[in-house]
Amino acid sequence: YAPISPFGKNAGPPLAGGKHILGGKGANLAEMSELGLSVPPGFTITTECCDKYCNEWDQTLPPELWNQIVASLTAVENEMNSQFGSPENPLLLSVRSGAAISMPGMMDTVLNLGMNDQVVEGLADKTGNARFAWDSYRRFLEMFGNVVLEIPRSLFEDELDDIKYEKGVNEDTDLTAEDLKEVVGRFKKVYETMDMTFPQDVLEQLRLSIGAVFKGWMGDRAIKYREVEQIKGLLGTAVNCQAMVFGNMGDTSGTGVSFSRDPNTGSAELFGEFLINAQGEDVVAGIRTPRNISELKGIMPDVYEEFVRNTQILEKKFGDMQDIEFTIQEGKLYMLQTRNGKRGGEAAVKIAVDLVGEGLITKEQAVQKVLPEHLDQLLHPRFPDVEMKEYKNAVMTRGLPASPGAAVGRIALTNEQVVANKEKGIPSIMVRDETSPDDVEGMYSAEGILTARGGMTSHAAVVARGWGKPCVCGCTSLSVDEHGGEIVITLDDGSQKTFKEGDFLSLNGQTGEVLEGEQAVAPPAITGNLKTFMDWVDEIRDIDVLTNADTPADAKEARKNGANGIGLCRSEHMFFKPERISKVRQLILGDDKQADAALKDLLQFQREDYEGIFKEMDGLPVTVRLLDPPLHEFLPSVKESAVMAELAKQLGTSVHELTEKVESMEEVNPMLGLRGCRLGITRPSIIEMQTRAILEAALNAIEAGVDARPDIMVPLVGKVEEFRNQKELIQSVAKSVFEERGKSCAYKIGTMIEIPRAALTAHEIAEEAEFFSFGSNDLTQMTFGYSRDDVGSFVPSYLSKGILQDDPFVTLDTEGVGQLIKMTVERGRGIKPDLKIGVCGEHGGDPRSVRFFSNEAGLSYVSCSPFRVPIARLAAAQASV
Ligand code: PEP
Ligand code: MG
Repeated sequence: YAPISPFGKNAGPPLAGGKHILGGKGANLAEMSELGLSVPPGFTITTECCDKYCNEWDQTLPPELWNQIVASLTAVENEMNSQFGSPENPLLLSVRSGAAISMPGMMDTVLNLGMNDQVVEGLADKTGNARFAWDSYRRFLEMFGNVVLEIPRSLFEDELDDIKYEKGVNEDTDLTAEDLKEVVGRFKKVYETMDMTFPQDVLEQLRLSIGAVFKGWMGDRAIKYREVEQIKGLLGTAVNCQAMVFGNMGDTSGTGVSFSRDPNTGSAELFGEFLINAQGEDVVAGIRTPRNISELKGIMPDVYEEFVRNTQILEKKFGDMQDIEFTIQEGKLYMLQTRNGKRGGEAAVKIAVDLVGEGLITKEQAVQKVLPEHLDQLLHPRFPDVEMKEYKNAVMTRGLPASPGAAVGRIALTNEQVVANKEKGIPSIMVRDETSPDDVEGMYSAEGILTARGGMTSHAAVVARGWGKPCVCGCTSLSVDEHGGEIVITLDDGSQKTFKEGDFLSLNGQTGEVLEGEQAVAPPAITGNLKTFMDWVDEIRDIDVLTNADTPADAKEARKNGANGIGLCRSEHMFFKPERISKVRQLILGDDKQADAALKDLLQFQREDYEGIFKEMDGLPVTVRLLDPPLHEFLPSVKESAVMAELAKQLGTSVHELTEKVESMEEVNPMLGLRGCRLGITRPSIIEMQTRAILEAALNAIEAGVDARPDIMVPLVGKVEEFRNQKELIQSVAKSVFEERGKSCAYKIGTMIEIPRAALTAHEIAEEAEFFSFGSNDLTQMTFGYSRDDVGSFVPSYLSKGILQDDPFVTLDTEGVGQLIKMTVERGRGIKPDLKIGVCGEHGGDPRSVRFFSNEAGLSYVSCSPFRVPIARLAAAQASV
């Protein structure tokens, strides 16, 4: 294995393996130094070492690795012309974690490493700035204590607050060198009270810090974050040890964080913050209020210009918007790190489109830059009209617009409350003073996040943006009383409003506005940049994206979203309307005459529905599935006496007799009972009615000038004989309809593949069927033997125990169910090489499953719910690149 990769001016080329081995941060540092940007020198200890540290080395650093670390350190000393641990000319280091995938705020950093009782004096002498030296030392004591020895940060913060109070000052920067010396003394006492020793030996500091970063990879916070983000397959984190440069050496020094473009809107201007005379964590922690990056131009024009030039070089190199940390030490700019910046949905699309326009990337690359979650955000509800009086009147105050989108929910003040709400299906707005990594679960479950403190790069802002959660932060007119269970908002006119936990609140993450109550929201439209982008997506993708739509309204919505047709029309969904359900009940429970009468009415309803759908889908295929679910789903509950009495009256029978009949139809395992084609075979009159409705509707639509393309699909086939039976029935009805009308139309008869036996005998079924569509919901149910309706009782525990990696009803189990799918495709196309094969289960809208269907299974199309169509289009295009 390769343990160490140096970077910096004279470091030479980095180790191979990129991010996977060096971590994102390490790979970027190596690349920045190769581009000739001024990066403080250092070295990266690889992710392979982390893996071995956690799994092989028993959480210790072996001597041969340690020797190499010390040798790399010497090279850094030479380049910086200083020595680690030397009081005369000290080198200080930063030690930071950095995995291949960025995990903002989840991992650990130790700054100013290499300070001790002698070095602090030496540094004070050398820089002539005692305040700076003691400030650096007290920062180091706090970070080292917290990150490496796990001493609670609050113990240090309390001491600092006490001293500030005693000295009568508000800001840290108002403390003198003598004050800070006192802080250092008190911080050392904190170590003592915790029974810990602060190592004066600087090499020991380094050894412990590297170990702590590696250990942090297996800490609860990091594990939870990876779980939520579904980050898998990483070796571990790398450790970057780098020469410190100082932003707190007076008024010609400073530090900041900036994006090369606006991560909310995507507009091509710098977006960031900096502080003069400060160190990195001051910006992130929100203790001092940072200044807008544009102000740097006036203060240090040369540095600003160099920074702008650097952002251009980096964007060109990485072909993407960058998130950059920098420090200015006595007028000299140092680039500390760069990475592809997290962004909201709107920005993701605009940046992708702009980068193509600027010639930095191709359309194919652009398509990879927008994540399915980004589209999801754009396709989420927004406030319909922010100019409306009702909207404007509801605005109470403003914070920073940290992450766009409209969020409406009930105020929840704790992680636990948000999670509890989520379990009950109650939407939450998480309201906090500021968020910390301990809040990630609640943040993930909330509709939106509101904080009183913290800037645009605070924890809440970065995490929320990554997840596309609307977020308003730094809302200074908000005060949160977690214990009292309420919040108070000071309005512009100075008056105050109090809200209790559980009250409704709305957030506009685009503008930072905080609104009273439950505001109305509206669906978005595909226009502008999004339209351009989606046109590229369609050019690039290889497979069609159809939709699961049961009504003309759904069909219309899906077509607006770019669907190439309907892959599944669940005809039974049309029966659930109140005026129709009683007809269905008459059909099931009545005598022959009553059943016939009911069928006549249902024929009319269905014909109208299908006609509407054909019109909306003019020129595109419409796959109608014949009745599928168990009959008793349509039956009344015998416990509802009023309903039973009414129905008994309609049918001219007694409640007693009706009850007996309903009970006789109950099944122990309805999902494995009388449903699908079994229903069609035992109750052919229903299929006759449905076939007639479909074909008459098609003929009517064609007469009205519509290009209607009906496909009729038989559900739950396990034996070819079942399919043959239904096919003959459909064909005979078609013959009568065409004779009666003196006209005919083209139509296809196909089947769903959703029973393992159908997959195993796909070659037989392919002889008869004109198309296949995987019912991956049932196929998953029957392959695993997990009841679709009862998985809630054990799947969450399977997921947390790692028995399941994903919920198989959400993301296709490619290993098991996927094999049946591939086998079906092979066997089916062995008989009919051009057989159209798609999928219409929930997996058709899941990006990872779409990749499998497109690339590995070779399907012709996926079909998913209307609002997921754009996401499936994107996933299909990404799979094709
Ligand atoms: C399926 O089983 O995947 C399917 C699409 O049908 P339904 O969900 O209606 O059973
Ligand atoms: Mg099914």
